[in-house]
Amino acid sequence: MHCISNPLPVMETFYSIQGEGYYQGHAAFFIRLAGCDVGCVWCDVKESWDANQHPMQHIENLVEQVKATKAEIVIVTGGEPLMYDCSQLTTALQANGYRTHLETSGAYPISGNWDWICVSPKKFKAPLHEVMQLANELKMVMYHSSDFQWAKQQAEFVSENCLLFLQPEWSKEKQMLPAITQFIQENPHWKLSLQIHKYLGVR
Ligand code: SF4
Repeated sequence: MHCISNPLPVMETFYSIQGEGYYQGHAAFFIRLAGCDVGCVWCDVKESWDANQHPMQHIENLVEQVKATKAEIVIVTGGEPLMYDCSQLTTALQANGYRTHLETSGAYPISGNWDWICVSPKKFKAPLHEVMQLANELKMVMYHSSDFQWAKQQAEFVSENCLLFLQPEWSKEKQMLPAITQFIQENPHWKLSLQIHKYLGVR
């Protein structure tokens, strides 16, 4: 294959089911870009942090991998995808008829053309307002009781149409769920997101 695109560092690609947020339950092809300097203590993909540990892949090659599946949605996640210019990737995916979904901490400027943007802000490296404004979905990972206040603060920065989700951090799920349930009952514009792929035992 003759490749003209800039390659991107890719930790893994796989076809699975979106386990979280608004598109929970939808089949989706995942492209996990490598590289992240946000440093969440509870990160469940720490092996993604060092981009040098992962091979560079050309966009043409990534599109071919998607084409080998019946996916309609491609979710670009990380790592932190916005550490890279995602323009060529989203252009190529959309040219082939795929929906482009982004999962980001919002800590880097936006690049690429996205059909859906999920921002999951992290205290360790705060999100940029320009990214928060574009979010279709705000997903707050709840690890500690102080995170409720943090979630409310972050919700001030998104557009009024942005969907709001609270998601217990996986290792704290049992401890956090009662307080999350109570919070949602008192603030019904927020919804619960559970990582159903972890229950299903899929990636
Ligand atoms: Fe891990 Fe995501 Fe946090 Fe980066 S932003 S450290 S990949 S959870």
